[in-house]
Amino acid sequence: MILRIAPGGDADAETPVQGRALRREDILAWLREEGWGRLEVLWQAADAARRTHVGDAVHLRGLIEISNYCIRQCGYCGLRAGHRDLERYRMSAAELLACAHQARQFGYGTVVLQSGEDYGITAGWLADVVRHIKAETGLAVTLSLGERPDPDLMLWREAGADRYLLRFETSDPELYRLIHPSLPGRPSDRVAMLARLRGFGYEVGSGVMVGLPGQSWDSLAADLETFRALDLDMIGIGPYISHPATPLGSGDWTHVLPAGEQVPNTELTVYKTVALTRLLCPGANIPSTTALATINRESGRELGLLRGANVVMPNLTPAGYRERYEIYPGKACVNETAQACQMCLRHRIEAIGRHVGSGPGGRNRKVRN
Ligand code: SAM
Ligand code: SF4
Repeated sequence: MILRIAPGGDADAETPVQGRALRREDILAWLREEGWGRLEVLWQAADAARRTHVGDAVHLRGLIEISNYCIRQCGYCGLRAGHRDLERYRMSAAELLACAHQARQFGYGTVVLQSGEDYGITAGWLADVVRHIKAETGLAVTLSLGERPDPDLMLWREAGADRYLLRFETSDPELYRLIHPSLPGRPSDRVAMLARLRGFGYEVGSGVMVGLPGQSWDSLAADLETFRALDLDMIGIGPYISHPATPLGSGDWTHVLPAGEQVPNTELTVYKTVALTRLLCPGANIPSTTALATINRESGRELGLLRGANVVMPNLTPAGYRERYEIYPGKACVNETAQACQMCLRHRIEAIGRHVGSGPGGRNRKVRN
């Protein structure tokens, strides 16, 4: 039986409506819920949905942060072009391939190549790298390289890339325009780009930050409905973490909301968002993010996995580059080696009674979101 879990009132009051049919008012009430007894009902429902739809395996995706150059000026991100003090790097093809081989040795099923929107990464160069990774390791390849033109995306897909991650960050158009300026002559429409990526044959992932300055409860509820409407294969949700060298972090760009409307960037709000996402999109792959592990180093990863998540992304970036991929300060795992990261995460996964998944761990299309 699928439970309808009603926020507020009696913790035992449950009626038979599907989680994925949650209405806007239910989502909003759950997001604002503070009662621990009630929240326990939400955690349990999310965990049960996770077990039923994607099982107990936790898939490991090895993250390679291939370049910290970026032409964009996102108001929240430490890699923005305007952050002049950041020392920039771009990995070589040989370094990248070495990381992919390490991923294979560690038993990961996927490598995720992530960077700023860096046109120093040319389409042809990256297509060659993807071809080599596929031929030499057989791993699934996920790309997260920003809003590249369609011909680049098609070339990479032809070269064998399997998935593309592009968070829409917030579904509130006014807030999005403020925090994520378009490039001259190229209006940014990440939702439209996700549809095109799917058309090119990628599995598509998206997501949001929780607690962005100017993000209201209503817009976070709309984000959750957008996940459901887009039928996403992967959904990444992490807290917004302030970076002092950015306009949002310094308070230069503001979008002040009436009292009580601003979503806090707390771990509790992230857990609620992850749990509701699992109920609304039961078949999606949902990571327990590094940003969550950053705001609760002791148990953020585990609590994310216990409240709906089924993926983690151990960092494979070589030590010399890692600290320069400073999206936000104090990022978890920056000083650990790739080997230490994989051992730590395996241990954490097993300690909560789950096991590491084998194979690429793609979206199971038999489960409808
Ligand atoms: N450049 C690509 C893009 O924007 O899609 C990929 C790299 S970007 C650093 C990956 C994600 O980091 C963004 O989609 C955003 O959600 C997240 N991020 C950036 N700044 C952040 C911050 N201050 N706090 C939390 N997450 C942040
Ligand atoms: Fe660049 Fe992505 Fe950071 Fe925006 S979020 S500044 S596109 S790396």
